Order: sequence, then C-alpha cells, then structure tokens
Amino acid sequence: MTATPNLLSTDGRLPLHNPLAPPAGTDDQATTVKCTTCYMCACRCGIRVHLREGENGPEVRYIDGNPDHPINKGVICAKGSSGIMKQVSPARLTQPLRRKPGSERGAGEFEPISWEETFAILTERLSRIRATDPKKFALFTGRDQMQALTGLFARQFGTPNYAAHGGFCSVNMAAGMIYSVGGSFWEFGGPDLDRAKLFVMIGTAEDHHSNPMKIALSAFKRRGGRFISINPVRTGYSAIADEWIPIKPGTDGALFMALMHELIKHDRIDRPFLQRFTNAPQLVVLDEGEREGLFAFDPDPAKGPPGDGRNPHNKLVWDTTSGQVMAAYPEGIADGRSPALTGTYTLADGTRVAPAFQLLTQQVAECTPEWAQAITGIAAGRIRALAVEIGNTALKQAFELPIPWTDAWGKTHPTTVGRPVAFHAMRGLAAHSNGFQTVRSLAVMMSLLGTIDAPGGFRHKAPYPRHIVPNYRAFNDPEQVKPNTPLNAAPLGFPASPEELAIHADGSPLRIDHAFSWEHPLSAHGMMHNVITNAVKADPYRLDTLMIFMANMAWNSTMNTMAVRELLNRRGDDGEYQIPFLVVCDAFQSEMVAYADLVLPDTTYLERHDVMSMLDRPISEFDGPVDSVRVPVVAPLGQCKPFQEVLIELASRLKFPAFTGAEGARKFKDYPDFVVNFQPQPGIGFLMGWRGEDGTEHLRGAPNPKQWEMYEKNGCVFQYHLREDQQYMRNWNQSYLDFAKEKGWRQKNDPVQLAIYSDVLQLFRLAAQGKTAGRQPPEHLRERISTYFDPLPFWYPPLESACSDLDAYPLNAITQRPMAMYHSWDSQNAWLRQIHSHNYLHVNPVTALAAGIADGGWCWVESRWGKVRCMVRHSEAVEPGTVWTWNAIGKASGAWQLDPGADESRKGFLLNHLISEELPFTDGDGKSAGTISNSDPITGQAGWYDVRVRIRPAEPEEPEETFPQVAAPPPAPGVLGKAQKVLTYFAGRKTR
Ligand code: SF4
Repeated sequence: MTATPNLLSTDGRLPLHNPLAPPAGTDDQATTVKCTTCYMCACRCGIRVHLREGENGPEVRYIDGNPDHPINKGVICAKGSSGIMKQVSPARLTQPLRRKPGSERGAGEFEPISWEETFAILTERLSRIRATDPKKFALFTGRDQMQALTGLFARQFGTPNYAAHGGFCSVNMAAGMIYSVGGSFWEFGGPDLDRAKLFVMIGTAEDHHSNPMKIALSAFKRRGGRFISINPVRTGYSAIADEWIPIKPGTDGALFMALMHELIKHDRIDRPFLQRFTNAPQLVVLDEGEREGLFAFDPDPAKGPPGDGRNPHNKLVWDTTSGQVMAAYPEGIADGRSPALTGTYTLADGTRVAPAFQLLTQQVAECTPEWAQAITGIAAGRIRALAVEIGNTALKQAFELPIPWTDAWGKTHPTTVGRPVAFHAMRGLAAHSNGFQTVRSLAVMMSLLGTIDAPGGFRHKAPYPRHIVPNYRAFNDPEQVKPNTPLNAAPLGFPASPEELAIHADGSPLRIDHAFSWEHPLSAHGMMHNVITNAVKADPYRLDTLMIFMANMAWNSTMNTMAVRELLNRRGDDGEYQIPFLVVCDAFQSEMVAYADLVLPDTTYLERHDVMSMLDRPISEFDGPVDSVRVPVVAPLGQCKPFQEVLIELASRLKFPAFTGAEGARKFKDYPDFVVNFQPQPGIGFLMGWRGEDGTEHLRGAPNPKQWEMYEKNGCVFQYHLREDQQYMRNWNQSYLDFAKEKGWRQKNDPVQLAIYSDVLQLFRLAAQGKTAGRQPPEHLRERISTYFDPLPFWYPPLESACSDLDAYPLNAITQRPMAMYHSWDSQNAWLRQIHSHNYLHVNPVTALAAGIADGGWCWVESRWGKVRCMVRHSEAVEPGTVWTWNAIGKASGAWQLDPGADESRKGFLLNHLISEELPFTDGDGKSAGTISNSDPITGQAGWYDVRVRIRPAEPEEPEETFPQVAAPPPAPGVLGKAQKVLTYFAGRKTR
C-alpha cells in the first residue's frame, strides 16, 4: 500500500475540502491507496480507493480515477466517485436468508440461515435436478462481468437454460454488427475519434461508453472535429453536438436506407474496398430453388479453403476485364482484374446470377430521402446533405498513414488509408423489434464508405473481429441434455443455419426462454425477459429452480412489471408455486429480493476479486488487448460472499468435471485460484498478463501462481500494444490474423469478408419458404421468418406499431439511463440521489400544451398494456412525437431501504409498466396464433423502445403521487437499515 501526501494548496493552507487529510482531532494516520476497477457502471475505469484504518479494518475514505489506467486516464464520473455510498448503503444484505415457512412470496418475510445450510439446500436440490432432468435448472444473470464463469457453470451443470442480460440490453447492436462486419461498438470496437473529422452518433445516450467517450469527444471537439447527433432526444453527449438531428424512435433504419440510396446514386462509395474486402461483388443465384439467393460456389476445393458454412472463401465473381466468371479469391482480386459490382450474368450451367451489390442497389432503389422523410421526420433535403457530407468526408478527406500492411492474399499495401467519418450507435437502435436489420443497415452503410477498421473510422478491439459467423455454436441438441452430464457446447453462441437451432424434432423450443428457436433464431445473448412468463406457463416445460443473479426482475429489469410480480407469486392448481424454487443473489434489498425462496448476499465490487477477461468482455483498446481485475480493498460486510465463490463452491460440491479431479476432489480452492489455473485451452486462461510460471510471458503461457499479485502491482490492468502494422484492417490483415490465431483469439487465420449480403439470413428464409430440404419452421412462423430474414438490410415498422392503433396511441415513449446513475443500483445512493431523486416525463411543449398538461403538472400516460401517473416537464430537447424519461429512478415503496415516503417511490415512476413482454401474434393467414415475445424476430432483443402511448392531464382531485404504488415489504433480517458509520468532514473538521 502506498501512502499519499496530504493535498495542500499552493499557498500552503489546507484547501476548503481535503478528503485525504487525516480527520481533525485524530491520530495522524496515513491514508493508504489501493488500485482496483470501478463497477459503478460497466465502463470499468481504473480507480484508486483511498483507505483509512477504522474500528474494524480499512474504511473507504475517497475514490478517484487512476491516472495511469488506459481506459479513463484518471477521469472519474459522479457514479464512480460515489462508490463509497454504495459501500455503506443501508440496503446492504448481510447474511443468507430463507423465506419463512408459510409466508407468501413477495411479502419479504425471511429467516437468517448459515452459509453451510444454504450450500446444503442448494447442493441437495441442484444435485437432484442434475441427476434427473438438468434443464429444470435455469441460471439467468444481469449485467454480470464474468459470463465466462456463469456460462461454464451452466454448461457443466448440463442445462441449456442460461443467459446474461444481453437479450434485454443490446444484442441487436452486437449481433447486427457481428453478422455484418465481425465486430461491434463499445467493448467490441468503436469510433476512432483521434483521427476522425466527422463524428455521427446515433441512438446513444450517455452510458455507452462513458468516461472514455467523454475524453475522446472532448479532444475531438478541441481539434475542430464536427459532431452530429441523431436522436429523438437531445441529452448527454448530444448536448455538445454541433448539430442535433431529431428522429422518430425506431426509424433509424429508414434513414440509413435513404443514405445508402444517395451514396450509391451519386457514387460516393469506396468501390475498390467493396471489390476486395466485402462480398459485394460475389455472385448470388437468382434462379428459384434451393440455391436461390445463396452465393454461387466454385466446387473445386483447390480454389480456396473449404467452406464450412462460416466465412467460406470459394465464392465466384464476374471479372469485367476478361468477361468471365472466376473464383472470388485469389483470381478475382489479382492485379488487372475488376470484379463487377452491378449487372446480371449467366454461369456456364445456365444459372442466372448477380453481384450482391447489384441486389443491394435494387433494395435501396425506392428508399428515397422523401420516403425516409415520411418515416423519420427528417427533411429530405437534410438527408441528402448528410449523405453528401459523410460521403465526401470518407472519400475526399481520406488520408494515408505511412503504415504498410499485407493482406490475406499476399498484397502489400504501402500505406494505410484513413476514412475520417466515424459512427457510434447503441441501444437507441438496438432496443426495437426492427433493431437487427437497422444495425445491419448501419454496418452495410459504413462498409460502403470503406470505414471499417480504418484510421478515423470504426475500429475493432481485440479479440474482434470474429468470423462471420463467429465460430461459436450454441448448444442445440436435445439428446445431449442428459443426467449428470455437461453440455457438449456452450449454452450461447451464433447460429449459422437452421441446422444449428436449439429445437426439438417437431420444431418446438429447447430452451425455457425460446432463444435459438424458430421464434428468434439468432438470439445470441438469450432472452432473459421471457423466462418468468414462460416458466409460469410451463412453455415449453416446467422449471424446478430459477437462479437469478444481479437482475431486478420484479421491477426495472422486466416489462409489464406488475404482472410479472404476480407471476413470480403464481400458484398452480396443486397449490404449489409455478416456479417452485427461486434463488436470488444480490448485494442489496432490491425489489426482487422479496420474491426469493433463498437469498444469497453478494459483495460489492470493492470487496471481491473479479476479472474483465479476454474470454468474456475485456476492456481492449484499438491498439491492442487490455484486461483487468478487481481486488478486494475492504473486507466483505457481514457474511456477504461473492457470487463467484458461491459458484466455485457449488461446482465443487456438485462434482462438475471441470471443477473436480478423478477422485472427486475439488480442483480449485477458491475463485482467485480458479482464475489463475483454469485453462480452456493450453496456455490460455482468464487473464492474459504475466503468464508463465515466473510471470514473464504475456497473452499465452502456463499459469502463474503470482498472477494476481502482478496485476495488483500494476494497477490491476494489463495492456498489450500490437505492432503498428497489425492495428488496422484486421479483417484482412494477415499478420494480425496469424497473431490472433497464435494467441488463441481466433480458431483460424483466414480473412473476414464483410457481409453486405447475408447468405446466413437467406438460409433461414429459404427454409421458411419451403425451398430447402432441411429443417422447416412450424407453419405459423413461416411468413414471419420469410419476411424478416431478408439477406439485405431493410426497414420495417417496429412490431408494436404495426399492431397498434396509432391514432389512439400517437406518441412514442422511450427511456434513457441518466448520466449519474446506472440501472437501479444508484437511486439508493445517498450522493447520487441528490442529483435525481425522482423523474419526470419529458414532453415537447407543443405536444404537452395540446394535451392540456402544464409544465410540472401531473398526467396519465397510457399504452395498450397499462398506465402510469407521473409529473411532466416541458422540454424543447425532444421531438414532438416522442415522450421520454430516465430509466430506473422510480422505486417500489420500501425497497432498497428507502423511506416508504421517499421521492423515488412517491414521485418517481417506471415506464416498464406500459410495456408488454408479449404481443398478439397472427400467422400468415391473419389468424390469431396466441402471443409471442415482444422482441426482434431475428435476435429476440426486447422491444423496450417500441411502446406507443397517449397522455392526458391527471384530475385535480387525484393524489399527487405516481401510480402504481405497491406495499412496502419489511426490512430483511440483517439488512443494515441505516447507513454504516459515515465520516463527514467540512473544512477539515469532523462533523459527526
Ligand atoms: S464511467 Fe464512472 S461509473 Fe463507469 S466505470 Fe468509469 S468511473 Fe465508474
């Protein structure tokens, strides 16, 4: 531990507030500092925690940013510096709890039990399920940062019923980009603002990325970069944009289609890039039949690596110089060749074909700016001007870096070409039921401009780019769900064809959430938002035990909140709960805790070991991989135990093969031991820094028993800088591809052509059209799949809009995460509550006044599914057809140990009450086919931002409090109930 000096102002006097000074009237104890990684949001900045010895060991005194950390370079935000108030939160759970016999779920009546009893209950129950029907155990987690462990636990248990929060967060952003360019935004890649000249941000609030984006934006603006924000709401980053372009929610795809129309029409596209690095010139079969819409293949295996359905390289192009068909690689890109991008051609066997780009051109032909204006609300002239601006920036302001690199076909490029238009998008695009195709249209538009892993454009972060489709097949074989047997594949992955769906022979879903079924085939992150509803309906079967970690499914992490709370408590005809056993692991008494049969008290991020791993979601930078750790800086409170330790203990007691030796002895003492010694393949572990027995190897090497110490000594972070010639064009950069394979980030070293045209989507469409002999979808889903699995991007109205009376519900309603809070964690934080203690519905004054609602007045917001009463703020910073509010500030009365009269429950509200987790579903003949998840039909991403609403003034006699209200549960046994000892100082004096 390092002693830090007291901070004195330059004139030698104490500053007004010196948090590092010893408390007045106490012994002059040295403040010590420990580095770890923030988890007040998911950006994972490096922090320094300042500690002082207290009565029961070190106490957190102050948190600031670590100036030596590559992610935040010392910057810290309001959330990060308020971690101390999370640590001392009155809502902290402190001991394991069991629901009192005879009490109702939701009543929150618990009795304390020991960890030994807790493990005995779990071991008995889980071993019985595992020995009989493992799929009856489901593990779903919130924004956990150790999916490599939680996923491994489920796989070793033998249940396919596992997912983290991605299905209700931003899977459309991940999958839409990964299936198109092999990487995505945020943890996977992002805008190179160091070299961009124009930055276009779309559908992004403040939260993804946070500090790193602020740092980059600040430098970008100082350099004179131009920043355009396209968003229904002007908040967060948009506040410093040079131009705000308001857009109607769920219509971004129409804007991108119109921009592509303009870029192609006026030839503002990077043709050489498209010809060499994308599948734009590759020939697609036009003739009807089982090959219709798929790429024509050269059957000669000598023409390239054999296709395995993932990124095959034996496709064909039409060479315009010789006027003949030839293999796309390497012949089609040889010097002197010029693969056609347009036209239609006939192969020697009479097959009619066309380059994929020709089909894209046809797809966008009708998508004029006038067409998009009617959908997006953006004037056609503005769309045209935007297309000119992005096209000219990419092509006319292009520059070259003196960095030679060699592509996968042996051509050395003397320089690296920069395309200085950068885009960034997040949940505003993703959280719609048309989000996958919207994100794909953005990815294809970026590809037209050649701005993929180029200086000044979008850049990947290791281990991305992945193959298209990534070499991770999700578990899909019902026969392999066997007693006491691990699954033969991970529960989550990326399907490449209908043969990889997780379904039974009759086409019904294998998983409780219906992920990877015909309903949502490419649901790469699972569908957590379906679990409770499906489990209660026993659709497709009944669960025994549902374990929820860090997800507030009884409040803000669920749609249709009041109904889901009732479902959690629903009993069957036999009087038993429809979900027989519910285990909740949380650090705080959230709304979800009251519904648990067993409560596992988790630690805070300051009390445990964690890894931000290359096996999961690391914190890599553009120039190379970065991973990091958390180390405990204070002891766990009470009996709190990290969930990681719970899983390691359970895996050992249940004798999972990966966690126990031949005689059943446990392999890993604890979680840190597991992190050091577990290797999914030789030399590859959870952490890539300081490997090898003496810690001298990096990226790959034998386990190092002192690895944790070495991370700790180095600020809890490891950064590796790639050679400069490996930092760009990584889809095709042979040196990088070889390196990535050698280090275990990729299974192969072959290039990744961008998928302008997705034959993977076409495989599903062909099956739905009955044109292929393989797996066929159920009849009622054929038209749905045929419609949405278009191999080319397209725009369609969000599903809820398509089935709603838009005259009755004329407004879109969306939420955003506030800058100062992360999910529900922070509206209980004593410091952050002073920034937001409740939320308003923000409405354009024109819209609010037309409805007769005054600024500050109370109103009702109604959707087809429910209603809320809340307060309104007039705001010019929202387009007139949209209303919005902050997410997750509203709390259930009494939860999180807030006073039942607290603003959060009396004035705060959740929009979730208005959103249904299911929509009515009609088959292709217009007949009712029951309900289906309110999600993207391709990925299963929850359609949070699709809801349609209307507003009206509340009546004067109505109470001035939000609706609905719920009864406050009693404090859980052992919950702190009041803040732990909090040190407060003013001007160097201790005030209590
Ligand atoms: S952005 Fe703020 S809350 Fe998020 S990790 Fe960084 S310091 Fe912590």
